[in-house]
Amino acid sequence: MMGLDLLFGPSVERGPRDRRIYLTFDDGPNERATPVILDILAAERVPAAFFMVGKHVRLFPKLARRVREAGHEVGNHTEHHVKLHLLGPTRIHAELAQAHVAIVVRTGREPRVFRAPHGLRSPFLRPLARRFGYTVFGWTFGVFDTARPGANVIRRRVHARLRPGAIVLLHDGDGYDPEGDRMQTAEALPGIIADARASGYEFGALSELLPAPSYTHSSPGTQDTAASSQRTPTLPAPSSPD
Ligand SMILES: [Zn+2]
Repeated sequence: MMGLDLLFGPSVERGPRDRRIYLTFDDGPNERATPVILDILAAERVPAAFFMVGKHVRLFPKLARRVREAGHEVGNHTEHHVKLHLLGPTRIHAELAQAHVAIVVRTGREPRVFRAPHGLRSPFLRPLARRFGYTVFGWTFGVFDTARPGANVIRRRVHARLRPGAIVLLHDGDGYDPEGDRMQTAEALPGIIADARASGYEFGALSELLPAPSYTHSSPGTQDTAASSQRTPTLPAPSSPD
């Protein structure tokens, strides 16, 4: 995938090949599924990452905060769940910036990870991600849980595709409908966790896959870069007009 990386910038799609996997939930927060998923993760002591749609963060701010306060990673998944490859740099900047602000205001913390809706990246994403300080994530496999094939099918598909270092794509929300039904994914989750553990896997936090934090947050007395000194609270401006 080196050619695509050169065009679209790097994307983390798998962790180290040890018996560790990483759960990720996209398109929330969602009023019904997200609280159930959070309760299961808490009971099982499993960390996860939630790539949130900015619009949904604005609709359900308490849920966004609850995800963060539970210690899970909160990532930017654009403001309106748009397909970036169709858009110019000004619109892509706006999609990232609006969701960034929504997440900062509602969770009290800057997101540091980004995932493109449908995994569709753009050549314009790379410089923006760098300026926001984002690590861009893809996934190792998804199981088409959004088609709602049944909780047992979702569970079985995850189990069948598990492999060392896998970043698993699941959905606690619907990118195009804040009221979308993701309860099958929530219902599948206890079985997904049990199957993985029975196969000798443990669950890692996506933050383990972030690069060394030389630029992520500036603090007094540490060496700083131009990029990090501009991060808070000002947002990066688009580099060129659309
Ligand atoms: Zn999505």
